[in-house]
Amino acid sequence: MLNPAAAARRAIPSLDRLLQLGAVAELAARYGRTLVTEAARAELAALRAALGRRPVAPHAGFEEARFVQACAARLARETRPSLRPVFNLTGTVLHTNLGRALMPQEAAQAVARAMTRPVNLEFELDEGDRGERDRHVERWLTRLTGAEAALVVNNNAAAVYLVLNTLALKKEVPVSRGELIEIGGAFRIPDIMARAGVRMVEVGTTNRTHLKDYAGAISPRTAALMKVHTSNYAIQGFTAAVPEDRLAALAHRHKVPLISDLGSGMLVNLEDYGLPHEPTPREALAAGVDIVTFSGDKLLGGPQAGLIVGRLKWVERIRTNPMKRALRVDKMTLAALEAVLRLYADPERLKTVLPTLRFLTRPPAEIEAQARRLLPAVESALRGKAGAEVVPVKSQIGSGSLPVDLVASHAIAVAAPGRRRNALAAGIAAAFRTLPVPVIGRISDGAFIMDLRCLEHEDEFLAQLGELKLDKILDAESQRRKEEQ
Ligand SMILES: *Cc1c(COP(=O)(O)O)cnc(C)c1O
Repeated sequence: MLNPAAAARRAIPSLDRLLQLGAVAELAARYGRTLVTEAARAELAALRAALGRRPVAPHAGFEEARFVQACAARLARETRPSLRPVFNLTGTVLHTNLGRALMPQEAAQAVARAMTRPVNLEFELDEGDRGERDRHVERWLTRLTGAEAALVVNNNAAAVYLVLNTLALKKEVPVSRGELIEIGGAFRIPDIMARAGVRMVEVGTTNRTHLKDYAGAISPRTAALMKVHTSNYAIQGFTAAVPEDRLAALAHRHKVPLISDLGSGMLVNLEDYGLPHEPTPREALAAGVDIVTFSGDKLLGGPQAGLIVGRLKWVERIRTNPMKRALRVDKMTLAALEAVLRLYADPERLKTVLPTLRFLTRPPAEIEAQARRLLPAVESALRGKAGAEVVPVKSQIGSGSLPVDLVASHAIAVAAPGRRRNALAAGIAAAFRTLPVPVIGRISDGAFIMDLRCLEHEDEFLAQLGELKLDKILDAESQRRKEEQ
């Protein structure tokens, strides 16, 4: 007589037999034989391991349907894309961790074409010989900024690195102490300068730097002057910084270029759209700056890229730095960037066609109306476990753009009654993250806040609310409270 566990182990069919089942063949048609064989093997191993651990009922058989279901679930889990869409309800329009700018349809279509067809990436169609990849966007960039020439690299950090490494290798570059910034994700001006092989010369103080500070720092070893837009913080009170035109005049008297890292660098005047002013590359170049660097995926609303615009003489030198090859962008980035820059040629339409600008200019009343429209559905998804209300909030532009300026918005705030409100709010946030399209909000004052400024695909948002599972989190909390009493 076999004991029940041994009998049950015997009842498990062989891997080969299982792979011949009709339902398993259906899985193989969908996922391929390799993955299905791996999944079936793993499920069999799990089954055998479980038999060793738990007591087994006499005559426990092998359940084919259950086995197939477990395989299907495993395959679905393991093949789900790692990079997935989410709802950005954080209130930060350009959220670096959520992929910054969303791109317009025109850009998505251009990328799809460049991915699936051969393209004239580095090929001159007129002459039939080798071309330069940046030419596809250079004419737009020069037109939109007034620059003589333009280059594109992987991101703005790379742009700053390449400019400094080309123009000031083993030489000195004076920078104001008020501009030695750190941008999230470990971009620090002093570190990037050191890695670029440049000797940083700090001038002035944290809050005040004058023209004479720069003048006093200039020596025969000076290769350039540099200005950095303090994009993610503001110094207020007793402050002084040198305007670009005066700094440019000083640099040119000493025959060195002035470099300006603008960070976001918007191509149009945001005040025309009712938003706070953000410095533009055009203004910087008009003031006499020789080289301006800025990001492609911040306010510009395009793909990740670093844009270098300015005087031809310097841009040509930067173009021939061997590191340009290491930092260059691929055809997908160029396709997207060209499509986005093209939209800037029509500023009247920009507000509707460029998602970043569309989000930033959404009227608060429209967001509030959306919040009120969605509130009943959210409330019913909470099934009485938590409450929801519409609250006024402030959205952020994000990615270091316009740090002090917040835009009025509305949110749905979800909170559960209890003493540990922040822990409960974290639990609610976790539940929203497990939805098929995870909803990312923020926690504030013991509530989970969903700022609706960037909510598109409202139907998809509503359709999945029914799958929200708050019970586990909130039951665990009430259990914990009972135990405490
Ligand atoms: C954001 C920013 C950078 C880095 O740009 P990335 O495109 O993220 O590499 C550099 N300098 C300033 C001033 C910035 O705001």
